[in-house]
Amino acid sequence: MAKAKFDIPKLEEYPEIPKIEPGSMAHLQTFKAKPEFQEALGFQGELSENWKEEAVAAMGNILDKYRSVRVYMDACVKCGSCTDKCHYYLGTSDPKNMPVARQDLMRKVYRRYFTFAGKYFPKLVGAEDFSEEILDDWYNYFHQCSQCRRCSVFCPYGIDTAEISMAAREIMDQIGLGDKYSNEIIGKVYRIGNNLGLPGPALADTLEGLEEDMEDDFNVQVKYPLDVKGADILLVTPSADFFAEPHVDGLIGYGKVFHEAGVSWTISTKASEAANFGMFIGSYENMRKISLRIREAALELGVKRIIFGECGHAWRVAYAFLNTLAGPFDFLDPDYPVPQHILEFTKNELEKGTLNIDKSLNDDMVVTFHDSCNVARATRMGPEPGGQFTIPRFVIKAVCNNYVDMADETILDRTFCCGGGGGLLTDDLMELRVKGAKPRMEALKTVIEENGVTHMAAICAICKSQFTKVLPYYGFDMDQIVSVHQLVSNALILSGQNPEIEEDETEEDAA
Ligand code: SF4
Ligand code: SF4
Repeated sequence: MAKAKFDIPKLEEYPEIPKIEPGSMAHLQTFKAKPEFQEALGFQGELSENWKEEAVAAMGNILDKYRSVRVYMDACVKCGSCTDKCHYYLGTSDPKNMPVARQDLMRKVYRRYFTFAGKYFPKLVGAEDFSEEILDDWYNYFHQCSQCRRCSVFCPYGIDTAEISMAAREIMDQIGLGDKYSNEIIGKVYRIGNNLGLPGPALADTLEGLEEDMEDDFNVQVKYPLDVKGADILLVTPSADFFAEPHVDGLIGYGKVFHEAGVSWTISTKASEAANFGMFIGSYENMRKISLRIREAALELGVKRIIFGECGHAWRVAYAFLNTLAGPFDFLDPDYPVPQHILEFTKNELEKGTLNIDKSLNDDMVVTFHDSCNVARATRMGPEPGGQFTIPRFVIKAVCNNYVDMADETILDRTFCCGGGGGLLTDDLMELRVKGAKPRMEALKTVIEENGVTHMAAICAICKSQFTKVLPYYGFDMDQIVSVHQLVSNALILSGQNPEIEEDETEEDAA
């Protein structure tokens, strides 16, 4: 690994609230989108001379459209409860990464232009004119928020800094100041169909390659179908599942589960991406346009159900917004939820007993689970409250003998972000990503030392990519992060599977 150009935080035995270091992250600014990438998304290409008036007008529209943002601007009582809850503050010590301070970057502009007191007595209420300096701070610090919502769990008024960050990014996009990473990726979805720019023929090759590998390894024809009309299930999964590690091991697992369940399923070239970066930039229009591909694919293929693969924010968009953005889905089978998570499907199959599981095949691992922010704090899974916490753990425990949870204050709805969510998974923000991962790394280190944990499982493509990159900065191995369906795949014995495989594995274990 190349030497980092920044100090890597020291992991403490017990998490400590750092002393503030004003401006410590002021230098870190993610790359800006070029005009052509802005315009492809319907935004202004670059800042105009009138950017200030345009920004205030855009803010007015957002305040009218999303009443919640206005409530968040007005409701904060500066109680301080959120100040030490953000992983980016804990990892960077920059006070502008405290959630309330991040909100205040917008609040001072809001007060100046949209409140009586701010218009006539600005100094009394901390209101300020929208200046270039403030815009610079907006660009830096609203791109140092992964929109994880941890702070909102601890706010007595439920103020959601994630939504404020989304609103700020939308205002900046509209005046011609967008970020390169998210906006280029959205452009690729429109042009090619997925975040990675993987064209249809390349996707077909990849899936054929997986089928050949499965046949070589197991002597079973497990299919990874593409664009099959009349299939029952449309699987919408993050494009990272098609080739990144450990994501692809999860995709292999989905295919094995579908095979054993005996259902017909397909992936779609048109909807070959579950991710929806429209949410990260707070753009309803882009989020809707991306979501509509899924509706079109489902209609064209004539499927009866839609199932989402392992992706945190995609599940949030699907669970919370898909019906509003792209519904009604009244052409699907009403016996199944729209959408459904792959973990719900696998849990049902485990309970029905259709999967032949040998848990001992995962005995070389002691597993913990990282709750992904968007799943944990913005969705549910299955019919029961808290299903987003219990279902992943049910599935892991059904396929692994050795499972340990991390500390209570770092899991479930209090989970710490991986450090790379919310459209920040870009190399130009590596310093932020590494520092922001510190609280999760501390919790992981504790269970490694105290419980012998060897692997951490996740159900989010961004978390998996982020941990693959940052684990080595803290002295861990990149392959300690695994997909939940990779664990399922390891333990699942296919019907008719070449028995020599099990024997080989047993012999290897004995050796
Ligand atoms: S939403 Fe998450 S990243 Fe953003 S301020 Fe709150 S805790 Fe920090
Ligand atoms: S916890 Fe809520 S009310 Fe308290 S300072 Fe933070 S945002 Fe304001």
